[in-house]
Amino acid sequence: MRQDSNKITMKPDELRALQSKLLQWGKKNYRDYPWRHTRDPYQIMIAEFMLHRTRADQVVPIFIQFLQKYPDVYALAEADPSEIGKVTEHLGLHWRSGHFIAAAKYVVEHYHGTFPRDEKQLLAIPGVGDYVSSAIITVCYNKPHRVVDANIARFINRFFGLYLSGEIRRRKEILELADVLFDIDEPGKFLFAILDFSAAICKSKNPLHQECPLRTNCIYNIETVQYKC
Ligand code: SF4
Repeated sequence: MRQDSNKITMKPDELRALQSKLLQWGKKNYRDYPWRHTRDPYQIMIAEFMLHRTRADQVVPIFIQFLQKYPDVYALAEADPSEIGKVTEHLGLHWRSGHFIAAAKYVVEHYHGTFPRDEKQLLAIPGVGDYVSSAIITVCYNKPHRVVDANIARFINRFFGLYLSGEIRRRKEILELADVLFDIDEPGKFLFAILDFSAAICKSKNPLHQECPLRTNCIYNIETVQYKC
């Protein structure tokens, strides 16, 4: 049964229960990456640039080396483009090479090296799109703000029984529900929890319904899989 997001009424206590279950799952299962030990917007931006379509474990050693060489926006703004090109080529992100230095120069020139807190200003930084700015706002500034990638969109699509198909992460229904979900006191931790949950349990292929702590309230499970235990 297809549902529209505006027809989904979630009582405040149901929403809090869902957020709490995801956070609890996260606390037991968080993946440990170096960019999860910082609230520095520069480091989060670099991590997200590198993680674009690249496996996280492949990014870890490159991220660490990169920060040793370019510890802040000032160092990166002065970097040799060919050196940055080698890093991005190694990650298969050669087309993103220009973003690294351009973003650092922009923050130095416009904000004296301090990242802005406003979403519009973040989005004006070269290479920074919706996902990177939202990650900075939630993780670094701890402000409730929706963050949606393909994995999070898939989880929302299933849990709320939207049955959308194709490229769904920018669909209005998904964004509206993400707004509701990310209205939470610990948005950064919640982001890590939902990212890890959608990658490990509510996976694209062969989701682990039988292990899922949300299965009794998940519309996809109730209507389609009907895994009960
Ligand atoms: S029950 Fe299945 S579809 Fe629903 S949230 Fe859990 S893993 Fe995803």
